[in-house]
Amino acid sequence: MAKIFCVANQKGGVGKTTTAVNLAAGLARIGQRVLLIDLDPQGNATMGSGVDKRQLALSVYAVLIGAATVREAATLSEACGYHVLGANRELAGAEIELVPMERREKRLKEALAEVALDYDFVLIDCPPSLSLLTLNGLCAAHGVVVPMQCEYFALEGVTDLLHTIGQVRIHLNKDLEIIGLLRVMFDPRTTLQQQVSAQLQAHFGDKVFDTVIPRNVRLAEAPSYGLPGVVFDPAAKGSQAFVAFAREMVERVGGKLPARPRPPRKSAAKKTVKTTPSA
Ligand code: ADP
Ligand code: MG
Repeated sequence: MAKIFCVANQKGGVGKTTTAVNLAAGLARIGQRVLLIDLDPQGNATMGSGVDKRQLALSVYAVLIGAATVREAATLSEACGYHVLGANRELAGAEIELVPMERREKRLKEALAEVALDYDFVLIDCPPSLSLLTLNGLCAAHGVVVPMQCEYFALEGVTDLLHTIGQVRIHLNKDLEIIGLLRVMFDPRTTLQQQVSAQLQAHFGDKVFDTVIPRNVRLAEAPSYGLPGVVFDPAAKGSQAFVAFAREMVERVGGKLPARPRPPRKSAAKKTVKTTPSA
């Protein structure tokens, strides 16, 4: 059964998308079957996985409104070794269209039931807000991975997020777990970052992942080549950290590491190119 995780943090620019694409690539590299779902209308996880958001025949939008299945809409990123259920600007409209729909927070969860056996991991890159899109992610997920920078207001931000997750647990998804807090863009030479990191560990104990993702320019450069850092430059410090993080995730959630990596399944759906007005 696929384990489903949201990469979430209500702040923008904290490293959610970088974490989602590199964790997906890291997991694929160690032999896991991965589906990455882009739930952000900006489509950065889609582009950053080598899938052109302007050329998507079907996107996560079609899945949410019930016009396509996940199998029909997901594309294999050959370069990255995982499947992508992409997003573009069209998805912003889903917010409004979902409002009158029945079970509007559960649409992604219900759509994912079909592919539960196709993948080991489903990762969901959430937008930086608590929107109906994020709620669909949190309802579908078994757990949340929270990337965060070790900055002055970090603890406050995390407390808000934990409160939100608590509310989702009460009202929508009682099994939702916080898998862990991931320290990203870390610069060990900065005293403040060391202090905040120590505070996080004191406060949240083993909910803080052991792996720390360093600030690394290769991770920031990779998206302009349409690749996760892990694929673009596997030797870079940041890429190695994400592969180590992928291993830690597998261990933490009780997954298995296959002796030999499995090739990803080819997409069954035939892709026809539809151009959206410059998404
Ligand atoms: P979010 O999805 O939370 O908005 P992103 O993953 O898009 O955040 O990251 C914001 C910016 O920070 C991007 O330009 C990204 O390339 C850069 N970035 C993220 N993680 C790192 C890192 N570990 N080292 C250097 N730059 C990073
Ligand atoms: Mg993002």
